[in-house]
Amino acid sequence: MTGGRGRPLAALAAAAVLAAAGAAHASDWTEYTAFLWHYKGPPKDERLAAAMKSLGIAGSNVDGLESTDFATKNGLRFYADHVAGKGILYLRKEDYQPVWDAWFADRDPRRLVRPNCLNDPATVKKLRELVKARVEKHRGAGPLAYALDDEISITSFANPFDFCFCAHCLARFSAELREEYVEIASLNAEWGTSFRRFDEARPQTTDEIRARMADRPRSEWNLAPWADHRAFMDRTLARTVADLVAFCRELDPAAPAGFVGGQAPNAFGGHDWSLLVPAVGFLEVYDIGSAREIVRSLDERRIPIVSTYFPSAPGEEWKNVYRLHYLFAHGDRGAILWSAEDAFASGDASKPAAYVRAMAPALKDLSSPALAPLLGARPVHDGIAILYSPASVRVHWMLDSWDDKATWPKRYGSFERDHSSLYADWEAWRKLLEDLGYQYRFVSSREVEAGALERDGYRALVLPKAIALSGMETAVIESFARGGGLVVADCQAGLFDGHGRARGLVGSLDALFGVKRGDVLVSERYGTVRPLAREAYEGLVVMEPGVAAASPGTRPKAAAAGIPVVLSRDLEGGGRAVYLNLAVAPYREERGAPRGGEALRSLVAEILQRSGISPPVRVEATGRPGARIEGIRAFGADGAEYLTLLQNGGFSVGPTGKSDLVGVAPGPPIDVRVVLSEPRRVVSLKTGRVVGEGRSFRDALVSLEMSAYRLDPLRR
Ligand SMILES: [Zn+2]
Repeated sequence: MTGGRGRPLAALAAAAVLAAAGAAHASDWTEYTAFLWHYKGPPKDERLAAAMKSLGIAGSNVDGLESTDFATKNGLRFYADHVAGKGILYLRKEDYQPVWDAWFADRDPRRLVRPNCLNDPATVKKLRELVKARVEKHRGAGPLAYALDDEISITSFANPFDFCFCAHCLARFSAELREEYVEIASLNAEWGTSFRRFDEARPQTTDEIRARMADRPRSEWNLAPWADHRAFMDRTLARTVADLVAFCRELDPAAPAGFVGGQAPNAFGGHDWSLLVPAVGFLEVYDIGSAREIVRSLDERRIPIVSTYFPSAPGEEWKNVYRLHYLFAHGDRGAILWSAEDAFASGDASKPAAYVRAMAPALKDLSSPALAPLLGARPVHDGIAILYSPASVRVHWMLDSWDDKATWPKRYGSFERDHSSLYADWEAWRKLLEDLGYQYRFVSSREVEAGALERDGYRALVLPKAIALSGMETAVIESFARGGGLVVADCQAGLFDGHGRARGLVGSLDALFGVKRGDVLVSERYGTVRPLAREAYEGLVVMEPGVAAASPGTRPKAAAAGIPVVLSRDLEGGGRAVYLNLAVAPYREERGAPRGGEALRSLVAEILQRSGISPPVRVEATGRPGARIEGIRAFGADGAEYLTLLQNGGFSVGPTGKSDLVGVAPGPPIDVRVVLSEPRRVVSLKTGRVVGEGRSFRDALVSLEMSAYRLDPLRR
C-alpha cells in the first residue's frame, strides 16, 4: 500500500476470509452433472425424471425448504439452493428499486442504506438461522453442494449504487481504516482530507467524488475516499459469504457450500474474486468480464464450478453445445439448465425444447467415465501471469463512466459487459496468448503482494491496463523484473496507487519501463478505443501519444510518427520490461478473421520468445488455416498429463452493440497437427485409441467439440 505507515489491509482481509473458510474439503462431486433448474415446467414425477435422464440431465435443484423427494426417489443428484434464503444476499427488486428510485429523485446520500445490510448483526443472525434450518433439513439426503443464494450482490447484480452508508457500515469501515492507516494523518494524506479522528472519516459517494474531481485534470484525481469504501463493501460481501460457508460446513462437513450466479468484477456489486474464491467450496459464475477465467485461475483447490445455460435463439442451438465443451475444457464440473419451464415449454415431459435436445449428446459425452479424469484437473501455466487488479477495476469504472455524467447509476452491469475498457483488454490479452499457444493464469494483486510471482515459478507478468498499483505491488513487480522476469504492460500502468489516487504525470513503473510522460491522455473515450495520434503502427492504434523514452537504456523498438509504441528495456539479471503503447482490445474482434490480428500476434510472440518463453504445445489447423484452436494441458488427480483441444471462441461486441461469440463456427471436422515439446504416447480419452507416438500427432477435431487426450511418457 502507499500513503501511510499502516499495514496492508488487503492482506489482513484475505487472511481473515481464509481463516473463516478453513481448510479445503474434498468433494464427492466426481461426475460431470447437469441440473435442471426447476421453475414451473412439468409435474415433478417419474415421467419428468425419466425424460431428464434420457437427455443427460442427472441432477436437480432443491429450493429452500422444499422436499428432496423428487430427486432422491428418482435417483437424481441435487444441490440445495437458497439455503441462506432469498432476498438478503440477493436483493429483491421490491426492496432495491424503491430505495434507488427515491435516491435517484433527490440524490440524498442519507438514503444509501442497503436493505438487509450485511454489516448489521441482525441480518447475519437471520442468515445463519435460515442456513441452519435448510442444511439440517437437507443434509441427510446427501446434496452435492449448497448454494447460499443466487446472484448475490452488495447492490443488484453488478449495477452501480452506493450501498452502504448505514451506521453499522460506517462504524466498521472507520475501524478498518484505523487498522489500515494506523494514524489519522496518513489517512488524511491519502484522501486529501482533514479529519481529526478515524470515527469522523466518512467515505465519499460516487456523486460526491465525481463533483470533487470535475474540475481537476486526470493526473490529479484522487478517488481514495470513494475507492476505499467500495473495497470495504467487497470485503463485506466476502466476509459474509466466508462466515456462512464455514457455518454450512459445521452443519454438514460432507458437501461444499458456495453460491450461484456470480457476477463480473466491478466497482460495485462486491465481487472481488480474490476474496470470494478462497471463501467458497462451490460456485456458479457468469462468464462476463473474464470472471470465469479469473475464478478458474484463483481456484487453488479445484472446487466444483458449474455454469448456467439459457435457451438459445432458434438456429443458434450450437452455441450452447459449444459452450458446454468449452467450459468443460476450462474446468466446469456441471451445467445448470435454465429452466424446467423453457426446457419443456409445453409442460409435457415427453416434449423437450429444441435447445435441450441439441445439448443432450454433449451432456452425455461430458458425463462419460472416460472424461472423468479431467474433472478437477489442474491446468498448467506456461510461466505467464496476467494481473487481476481489483483497484484498477474501480479506477477504470470511473474513467469509462465519466461521460455518463449524472446518469452513471444507469450504467448497469449488462451495459458494462459490452462497454468496459478493462473487460475488453482482459479478454483481448487472454485470446492473444491462447492464439499464440500459451496457457496463463490470472494472478491477483493480493497474490502478487504475497510473493506468488516468484513462489509459483512465473517468468512473465502481463499488466493489462493495470492503472492502479499499490506501492507494495510496484516494488514486488520491480524486483520480479530485476530478478530475471519479463514484465509487459500495455498502457496506463501504475498511474494511480492502490487506493485510486493519481500519481501525477508518473506511473509507478515508469522508471522500470524507462518511459516518461508529457500528459496522461489515452486513445479511449467512454471505454472504446478512439485514436488520438494521427499515425498508427501496422494498423494498431497508438494508445498514449504523450509517452516518450526516458533513459538512454531504452530502445524504442518501434515508433509511429515519433511516438514510441514498443519500448523494450533489458535489465541486469536477465529480466526485461516492455511497454506496449498500442491498443490490444480490438484484438477481440480482429481474431475472428483468418489473418486478423497478425501484427499484434507477431509482436507479442517475439517479446515472449526473446525471453525464452515458447509454447510447449503447437496446434496447427492444417484443415482450416486460420482457425483458432486452443490446446489446454492439465494434470489430473491421478498424476497423468492431459491435453484438450477445441475451437477457441471469445466474446466480442458485435454490430448490435451486444457481446457475441467470435472465432468459432459450426462446420466439418478440422484436421489438426499437434507438436509436443517432449515425445509422448497420445491416447484419445473417448476411444482409448493411441493416436500417435512421438513428438507430433494428427487428428480430426469435431467442430464445436472438445477432443481429449492423455499424454503418457514413452517407454524406451
Ligand atoms: Zn450498511
